[in-house]
Amino acid sequence: MRIATYVQGGKRQVGLVSADGRQITAFKLPPDVAQRGAQALVEAFAGGDALPTLEATSVSLDSVKLAAPLPLPRRNLWCVGRNYHAHAKELQTSVFKDNDANPQAWPIVFTKAPETVIGPRDDVVLPGSAISEQIDYEAELTIVIGRGGKNISKADALKHIFGYTIVNDVTARDVQMRHQQWDMGKSFDTFCPMGPWIVTADELDGMATRVRCWVNGELRQDALTEDMIFDIPTLVETVSRGITLYPGDLIATGSPAGVGMGFKPPRYLKSGDVVRVEIEGLGSIENRFV
Ligand code: MG
Repeated sequence: MRIATYVQGGKRQVGLVSADGRQITAFKLPPDVAQRGAQALVEAFAGGDALPTLEATSVSLDSVKLAAPLPLPRRNLWCVGRNYHAHAKELQTSVFKDNDANPQAWPIVFTKAPETVIGPRDDVVLPGSAISEQIDYEAELTIVIGRGGKNISKADALKHIFGYTIVNDVTARDVQMRHQQWDMGKSFDTFCPMGPWIVTADELDGMATRVRCWVNGELRQDALTEDMIFDIPTLVETVSRGITLYPGDLIATGSPAGVGMGFKPPRYLKSGDVVRVEIEGLGSIENRFV
């Protein structure tokens, strides 16, 4: 299933995208429930309950405005830093030490505020040069947790995944480095474009797909998720160690090589740039920076 949150006639709805990707059919949800996007469906799935029923008629996908599938996640997004071998190498000479040299190292995990989330075609607002002049893109496959749990083992991890979506983990590099902890440089308003929908885990193997990112039509990132240093079950196991995960929690799995910071000299984003992230089996998001 592809589950999208969208706005039609000024009203937020959650719907099922047709197999051909042309139509969307709304689930029958009270307005306050639809306001939370796909959250109610993720919770129903996690609880083993039937999904809400669908309206009788569908509308053209072109006639609606897609929103982020989870427009305001229930808490901070969990995010994994430097999780592709090639990306770890490109940052070897940056201020970030290479964690790829030590195969025993733990994943780097930080969080991103839920209020950063915007829709798959919405504008990202640059914070202004007084705050940051080093805005960067990070294309990422993102896990949507279904059934919650604590101390989830690698062997059980896939049973806790509802599906996947795309996130651009937009980052202010100077702010990220300045504060030691990464959360501030990752949490500016609008810094988390998400979508275009959630693809359920039965329809996408997150461990065998391709992540690509273009800036103004130029391919910058292109990687297979097989290149991850810590695979998806390991990430679920790590984040749930002593911490209960809940339905609708998100884990952004890290970005491949090719971020702006990795170029010499670095190639940061400026107003007017358009960043497109595409993941095979998921679709694409495309956002203008203003
Ligand atoms: Mg990232």
